[in-house]
Amino acid sequence: MKHWYKDAVIYEMHVKSFFDKNKDGIGDFKGLIEKLDYLQNLGITAIWLLPFFASPLKDDGYDILDYYAINPEYGTLRDFKKFVRECKKRNIKTIIELVVNHVSDQHFWFQDAIRNGEQSKYWNYFIWSDTQEKFKDTRVIFNDTEKSNWTWQPDVKKFYWHRFFSCQPDLDHNNPRVVRSINKIIKYWGEIGVDGFRLDAIPYLCVKEGTSNENLEETHNVIKNWRKYLDSEFENKIFLAEANKWPHDVAQYFGNDDECHMAYNFPLMPRIFISIRKENRNPITEIMENLPKIPENCQWALFLRNHDELTLEMVTDEERDYMYKEYAKDPKMRLNLGIRRRLAPLVENDRRIIEILNSILFSFPGTPIIYYGDEIGMGDNVYLGDRNGVRTPMQWSPDRNAGFSLANPNQLYLPPIMDPIYGYQSLNVENREKQPASLLNFMKKMLATRKKYKSFGRGTTEFLKPKNNKILAYIRAYEEEKILCIVNLAKTAEFFELDLSTFNGHKIVEIFGQSIFPKLEQQKYVFMMQPHSFFWFEIKKSDIDDKINLLSQSAVSATGQMQNK
Ligand code: MG
Repeated sequence: MKHWYKDAVIYEMHVKSFFDKNKDGIGDFKGLIEKLDYLQNLGITAIWLLPFFASPLKDDGYDILDYYAINPEYGTLRDFKKFVRECKKRNIKTIIELVVNHVSDQHFWFQDAIRNGEQSKYWNYFIWSDTQEKFKDTRVIFNDTEKSNWTWQPDVKKFYWHRFFSCQPDLDHNNPRVVRSINKIIKYWGEIGVDGFRLDAIPYLCVKEGTSNENLEETHNVIKNWRKYLDSEFENKIFLAEANKWPHDVAQYFGNDDECHMAYNFPLMPRIFISIRKENRNPITEIMENLPKIPENCQWALFLRNHDELTLEMVTDEERDYMYKEYAKDPKMRLNLGIRRRLAPLVENDRRIIEILNSILFSFPGTPIIYYGDEIGMGDNVYLGDRNGVRTPMQWSPDRNAGFSLANPNQLYLPPIMDPIYGYQSLNVENREKQPASLLNFMKKMLATRKKYKSFGRGTTEFLKPKNNKILAYIRAYEEEKILCIVNLAKTAEFFELDLSTFNGHKIVEIFGQSIFPKLEQQKYVFMMQPHSFFWFEIKKSDIDDKINLLSQSAVSATGQMQNK
């Protein structure tokens, strides 16, 4: 279907973390295929796979050794093709990572360049300099580990440019040959059948002296080139932009519907967490109302947590201090400019908060992304280095290795979570499936409900402004359909009035239970809400069903049966 990404619910995962079929302690494609029924049953419609290409794994696969090969630990190309076929059978789309900004220093392009120096045909694939003086205005992103964007290469006696780890030399996208090399990669995986590409770290593709080397016009032209190529070769395949930038910069990556189809709403995410701690809707509504308008075919991608630290780049210094104070008291929980925690531990495993966070994720304008394990409320391990604490094995059952693998426990790529609150002995899919009121079953219900209403993926959004600013209220609308969403951000019960006068004469129906609430008749409608709770209502025209209901009710009253109760 055209624009499938608008109605999608994406599940983000790493093949190594999901299920290990060949018992070597590392998840693989054969294992993932076995778990596709679980994902289909959960209700997701697309899988975003973290990097699985051949890699020395110095940066969890974002350091690519070969764009045309699968890391043998995860399986073979045949396994991958079967995975894509099995997804198609279940109507699940596949989105893969295209790490285009840089390669591993082991990649043959870089190896050839340092072996043959300026004679190498790949020399100009990279950016070289005799000094570290060039591009002085460019910030260092991984400021916990890297001191400079330049690293000395002794074989060729030059510095090379890198925006991320020094083992990841940046590709020079000012060079059209590099741009064309990426087109070939797009064609290869597109023909295998993947439905989308997540373009990693795209604000940094091109360089230009005297600039910050971010969001350059040259970079946008490169993306336009890829998009043109994608559309000329395929139908209904998409680009998802990873641009961790302020809204007006991110929106540039949609172009004029000629760059990326989707881009993450990075600035929204930390503000959801701020709003909840402050019990005040303003941080959310301010950022949402300042979002630039985007082309009609484009879509925001929404997330609460992902495989990286909860990034605080797109907040003010004051907001960052606030987030650290509220969500990462222990310095171990911090990394770069962010917080390396999963969703449940971030909110102290408060089920009500987890629910309202997900209600926002599933009802805000955009396409929601669930990070694997967050649907069961998995915990993290801040004692593991870098971002590994949020990348531990999926917890399937209370069996050995969380049911993830039959390998020797010492052989696992990372140990499963074993603490008393989040440990796999009690927190696992098997147990959660058996409990009707579990988070997992709540999530299934949310997913199923979202699918029934086109407004969530495609509709307009209007924020209502009740006097009580602990209440976040908004209307999503698409064609005739209208959904009223309300969140109580406070840890106290609240009442408030909503002006719903534009819907006079309509009825409101609670979406999950289908309970019919009193008709909208006066100007103000009073609501009462439990602490940290949410409501979704469908605003419906009073229709013929009502008349039939009314008639049958009056018939009952007439026979006097009601009065005798
Ligand atoms: Mg394995």
